Amino acid sequence: MNALLPTSTVGSLPKPSWLAAPETLWAPWSLEGDALIEGKQDALRIAVQEQQRRGIDVVSDGEQTRQHFVTTFIEHLEGVDFERRETVRIRNRYDASVPTVIGAVSRRQPVFVEDAAFLRRQTDRPIKWALPGPMTMIDTLSDRHYGSREKLAWEFATILNEEARELEAVGVDVIQFDEPSFNVFFDEVHDWGIAALERAVEGLRAETVVHICYGYGIKANTDWKATLGAQWRQYEASFPLLQRSSIDTVSLESHNSHVPIDLIELIRGKRVMLGAIDVASEVVETPEEVAGTLRRALEFVDADKLVPSTNCGMAPLPRRVAYDKLDALVAGAEIVRAEVAPRG
Ligand SMILES: [Zn+2]
Repeated sequence: MNALLPTSTVGSLPKPSWLAAPETLWAPWSLEGDALIEGKQDALRIAVQEQQRRGIDVVSDGEQTRQHFVTTFIEHLEGVDFERRETVRIRNRYDASVPTVIGAVSRRQPVFVEDAAFLRRQTDRPIKWALPGPMTMIDTLSDRHYGSREKLAWEFATILNEEARELEAVGVDVIQFDEPSFNVFFDEVHDWGIAALERAVEGLRAETVVHICYGYGIKANTDWKATLGAQWRQYEASFPLLQRSSIDTVSLESHNSHVPIDLIELIRGKRVMLGAIDVASEVVETPEEVAGTLRRALEFVDADKLVPSTNCGMAPLPRRVAYDKLDALVAGAEIVRAEVAPRG
């Protein structure tokens, strides 16, 4: 474990082809029953083994046990009808058929806690687990019960807090909330989004992360990015609020994105999980490219608060490409670590 510039990933890694169709986002499972449970665990073991072997310091499950970063969580909740589907616009970007909230939402039993305990048994390194953020959850649903996005987000925040406390209890060191919606609904982020997120992390001792990105490299996202102009300044809305929040770490995109690097100044004092790997491209970064991205960030974040990472999840990439990108990340971080480490 490197104390300085510890490497991490945002979360997902490609699944083995025997578990789900490769290079497909949200692919259905290829196994069922007990074989599926065993297959997921084997895939998780591989994800851990590959991250460790390649030198990733903070290890994740590679999201091998879930199909979708939001719906897999929601599937386990009461009050949501998966048979009753309605078409809604996700993040103002693309239409999707989503389940409907038909009653009070609640978590009858833990969702990921068993999987996280399994991950804990596979490694001695610090482990990170990702949960969807409250605002992103409500944006992936149709609501016929609460009639208020804020109210529903608050309910989800309470549920997420219960789950997060149990993840912490089984040994999860870092709990991450994925909030891509923070780059879209600026008024709501200000009015209640940050408050809901802080509700979700209430009382946690584990390190807390919010991941805000421009999404996987799927067409709906790349089309949207093309409309954002030469400078992507979306973070300007959420960063000042997060700087004053109780969240420990902010995970953001950098490499190959049009995010002005000086926006990191807006979260001065927080830890910064910096995306030094482009997940929307199959071109593997060179270690020197990764190092260059990290060096630019170091003008705006103290070295002891920088966590080299990926822009987003890598699930849809070819497996070899994803793992080669992990090698590049680790090698790039090593170059910069040697430059900033206290000498003598
Ligand atoms: Zn992301």
